Amino acid sequence: MTHPAQPKASHFINGEYVEDTAGTPIPVIYAATGEQIATVHAATPAIVEQALSTAKAAQKAWAKMTGTERGRILRRAADIMRERNHDLSVLETYDTGKPLQETLVADATSGADALEYFGGLAGSLTGEHIPMGEDWVYTVREALGLCVGIGAWNYPTQIACWKGAPALACGNSMVFKPSETTPLCALKVAEILHEAGAPAGIYNVIQGMGEVGGALVTDPRVDKVSLTGSVPTGKKVYAAAAEGMKHVTMELGGKSPLIIFDDADIDNAVGGAINGNFYSSGQVCSNGTRVFVQKGIKEKFLARLAERTGNAILGDPMDEATSFGPMVTENQMNIVLGYIEKGKEEGARLICGGKRADMDGFFVEPTVFADVTDDMTIAREEIFGPVMSVLDFDTEEEVVARANDTEFGLSAGVFTKDFTRAHRVIGNLEAGSCFINSYNDAPVEAPFGGVKASGVGRENSKEAIKHFSQVKSVYVRMGDVEAAF
Ligand code: NDP
Repeated sequence: MTHPAQPKASHFINGEYVEDTAGTPIPVIYAATGEQIATVHAATPAIVEQALSTAKAAQKAWAKMTGTERGRILRRAADIMRERNHDLSVLETYDTGKPLQETLVADATSGADALEYFGGLAGSLTGEHIPMGEDWVYTVREALGLCVGIGAWNYPTQIACWKGAPALACGNSMVFKPSETTPLCALKVAEILHEAGAPAGIYNVIQGMGEVGGALVTDPRVDKVSLTGSVPTGKKVYAAAAEGMKHVTMELGGKSPLIIFDDADIDNAVGGAINGNFYSSGQVCSNGTRVFVQKGIKEKFLARLAERTGNAILGDPMDEATSFGPMVTENQMNIVLGYIEKGKEEGARLICGGKRADMDGFFVEPTVFADVTDDMTIAREEIFGPVMSVLDFDTEEEVVARANDTEFGLSAGVFTKDFTRAHRVIGNLEAGSCFINSYNDAPVEAPFGGVKASGVGRENSKEAIKHFSQVKSVYVRMGDVEAAF
């Protein structure tokens, strides 16, 4: 019997499901059991062509609709996503292995927020009137044209919406390529947008590995590329986009600092560290994986952290009581286990976890290392798994310098009751998305993105509009034209 997660076909192009079984088969493996639940096929050159030509052809008429009309469609799509939240969350769990307890509140719901927010903004995207004496200049905020979205595997529904919603609100069309690891959810986003009234060809999804992404990025019809992925992929995609002078948004990896001062509320700080390291089994780009704890509270913090981490419920992700799921793939599990071994070899003190969980599926226990030093591999490289490194510090000046000593700059957090210090520390940290006495909140209203190697541009909020549109300026002369001859 066909598994319920099996999509009708691999791709969604021009308002319908499309198959081309000549493409390389991509097995979809459920991370909690290791069982194959679906198969899709990578896009062949013919499928890539079909998606790009249809998106190109559809875009101009979409941009000519009023913003309010486009927004109404996005908001209708948001309503459909919310009505189907349960089914979409189950699919997200099959796609990623993340527990239903999370997917019910964090994935389709956050996608719907993006569709609703940008749907609401669409009618208000206007230009300026700039008086020049008797003459004037006016500006028009125009769509970029055909946008390509390329997603990572940790939030397949959310990423498809975070890119699609602002792109469509501004009058662009999109071809979205999900990660080959999680190909299922973006197809549902395309189907729902179409059902909500998006004209055929405005939002297309095609499957494939890096080569398909590469073919999209280098196509001369493409005006913008928005990637969520790792720094090495980001460098390649950014360089390829530069060849064609395309706009980019790069949402890349991180190794973010979470700084906890002696005066912090210990339970809130422990909660922040847990949210910033173990949500989605640690597969979150903005995670605060370098937890700097001031020496005065270090042992108390570690004891409370170990106690609360012991309450994680590993198990069947479809059971709503489960609070901690598997790694997305066996390969990712092995990468994470490799980092854990490195941590042990390099002399970090294991507080809890530290191995594969003794159960089916790709589970790694939530792991905490203490006495981590700045030069250790686990403190320098993005692990993308449930491995928290706790480092000690004495002074504010010292911790800020150490926190900034990384190529990454996605997020940063600080826990303290001293608000003057909190704002001063955040002001000195090199990071794009920051938190005071909290960690990893990402509402659609707030800009999201990194500095340094962690990225270019911003998603969400009004900032995202700037990255999916451009300004035309028009000088209007009322009098005669003066010329030298
Ligand atoms: P990857 O960088 O491996 O892949 C990201 C996407 O790019 C995938 O769809 C991949 O295809 C595609 N791709 C790979 N090579 C190319 C290429 N040469 N040209 C075009 N596309 C290409 O990232 P992961 O999927 O492993 O995701 C984890 C990473 O994503 C982490 O570093 C994480 O920090 C980051 N991330 C960043 C976020 C942010 O907003 N800042 C949010 C979430 C994750 P395929 O894999 O199918 O081959």
